[in-house]
Amino acid sequence: MRRIIQLDDALSNKIAAGEVVERPASVVKELVENAIDAGSTVIEIEVEEAGLAKIRITDNGYGIDEEDVLIAFQRHATSKIKDEKDLFRIRTLGFRGEALPSVASVSRLEMKTSTGEGAGNRVVIEGGKVETFEKASSRRGTDITITDLFFNTPARLKYMKTIHTELGNITDVVNRLALSHPEVAFRLIHNERKLLQTNGNGDVRQVLASIYGMAIAKQLVPITGTSLDYKISGFASMPEVTRASRNYISTMINGRFIKNYPLAKSIQEGYHTLLPIGRFPIVLLNIEMDPMLVDVNVHPSKMEVRISKEAELNELVTTIIKEAFKSRVLIPTAYTQVKKEAPKTEQTALQLDEGTNDDQEIHREWSGAETVQEYVQPASAMQQTVQETESMPAVPQTVQETESMPVVPQTVQKTQTITKNPFADFPGRSETAVVAETGESPGSIFDKPKSAPEHQVDFNENKIMESRDDNDQMESRVPRLYPIGQMHGTYIFAQNENGLYIIDQHAAQERLKYEYFREKVGQVQSELQDMLVPLTFEYSTDEYLKITEHQHELEKVGVFLEEFGMNTFIVRSHPQWLPKGEEKQIIEDMIEQLLAMKKVDIKKLREEAAIMMSCKASIKANRHLRNDEIQALLDDLRKASDPFTCPHGRPIIVHYSVYEMEKMFKRVM
Ligand code: ADP
Ligand code: MG
Repeated sequence: MRRIIQLDDALSNKIAAGEVVERPASVVKELVENAIDAGSTVIEIEVEEAGLAKIRITDNGYGIDEEDVLIAFQRHATSKIKDEKDLFRIRTLGFRGEALPSVASVSRLEMKTSTGEGAGNRVVIEGGKVETFEKASSRRGTDITITDLFFNTPARLKYMKTIHTELGNITDVVNRLALSHPEVAFRLIHNERKLLQTNGNGDVRQVLASIYGMAIAKQLVPITGTSLDYKISGFASMPEVTRASRNYISTMINGRFIKNYPLAKSIQEGYHTLLPIGRFPIVLLNIEMDPMLVDVNVHPSKMEVRISKEAELNELVTTIIKEAFKSRVLIPTAYTQVKKEAPKTEQTALQLDEGTNDDQEIHREWSGAETVQEYVQPASAMQQTVQETESMPAVPQTVQETESMPVVPQTVQKTQTITKNPFADFPGRSETAVVAETGESPGSIFDKPKSAPEHQVDFNENKIMESRDDNDQMESRVPRLYPIGQMHGTYIFAQNENGLYIIDQHAAQERLKYEYFREKVGQVQSELQDMLVPLTFEYSTDEYLKITEHQHELEKVGVFLEEFGMNTFIVRSHPQWLPKGEEKQIIEDMIEQLLAMKKVDIKKLREEAAIMMSCKASIKANRHLRNDEIQALLDDLRKASDPFTCPHGRPIIVHYSVYEMEKMFKRVM
């Protein structure tokens, strides 16, 4: 008896929809990607109730020809690839021909589309069934409206999270699409409120400003680099601008934003000791490469990719970030310190004011995602802490999200205006309506609002971002400073003609010791000092075996073990430079570090040993220093190769410029 049947199209579309359109944000992603692929320069996304009530995407792309309209809704129907060869040189965002049929099978969909030549067409599809197909207006482009998403898949509907979470996912998707396509003007509107608008002039920094706000955008440093196979560009936040999770790291390959854990790791590696533990940078990384070298056909959402020569890419990324900060003066000004609002609490803070004006900020932050799992599922982490203000079907705690997108915080810029309204000829929107909405006269996006003086500075004027010329740099990146005194045995006050400098004495000492030990621990030939009484160390068998296997590597960090019976080692001598009185503890810690490593990396081992010893050897806070001791410390700091952060990434120096002091005391306005 036959048991196997071929499923009909309607059913296979619904099955595909399970993967392609998991949530409202995935619908937005697919439809906006289609609009981008259609060569649109202006894309408007209008959403109601986080997309569950309505999603409308309007574009000015090349539209769909009458003959193609119904075919576009068939499974695996695409205009983007023709044969197998094309699969390996994909330049478009879409290629699987799954989005339209999938979306149409789980919603009510209306599409108006026109190539701009002759009449356009209108098609209405409900739950995959074509209800209407007729002639319509001829405005070039496509206008697609999805209502009642998941109306016929109740299980999926139940799976939705709060309005806030789903909306967060949508803004995240749109933010990233806007970042990867600065040449397209995007506008995102939720329940009639504008959440994002970019001007499509191709300047990524302006998109970054629209998303993160001007203050942050000004603290982003351009990064570039090339190798034989890769061309990288983008922006990276100054080390003092940090976030509590990796979700602010956006990576794109050939205009497609992707999720790639090793890549995010390499970025962090580039910052290395410049960031505090558990804090992450804001980074936008654009990778251009031969499409042959990247397989995008890994997952229906096309966000995971396989990269050949991945190690080469990761190394390049780390180097580029390192280089970007090597030559910069990284003294945060007290002024920017105040502006930086990154809460230090590892807690989710989300405010979504339901007011009617445009000047709202949606600010999200949640605990650092430490595992790969969390990294790809931050929305679930958020779920636990976000206050529900709107009732949505709750998600059973046991249901595992299979995929969700990290949410990028987003700030709606008050200052944002557009010279010419790119959305003017979109249905139902006129130029005057938009001007009234923003309440501003046309001008540059960077026009300074009178109420917010900190936005006044040009990107290039920002003094903490400027690079010193080579001569100066050879000398020192820290200016010559003259001691004023010390406070609470902890902070050093110093001055020069540019103003006041406050130095965290412990952080400074830790940095200096770190650099000292890093050099010492790297020297193969160390002068050894014999101990009167040898130290003994005992381990379990598996640990003992691992240690013996890597004994020669331990010698490279100054630990000289001799095997001494079953599972025991003794140490008879140690390098001269090992901090006195701490020998046993330090050797134990170093062995501990080796044991914790999956793959022993001598460079890392040395670095960690240096960090640990610097911490142990540094004078703790509350130690009084005489002026000559302060002067010596300041002079040493000038010689340090990384004088701005301690090995744990905390800042060492803060600067109040003369101007800032005068401002504080209202001597200048
Ligand atoms: P894919 O994007 O993988 O090709 P889709 O199902 O998303 O598959 O879309 C099917 C086809 O419909 C596309 O290949 C494209 O030719 C056409 N299409 C979809 N959306 C648009 C749009 N906004 N503008 C122009 N053409 C579109
Ligand atoms: Mg598509």
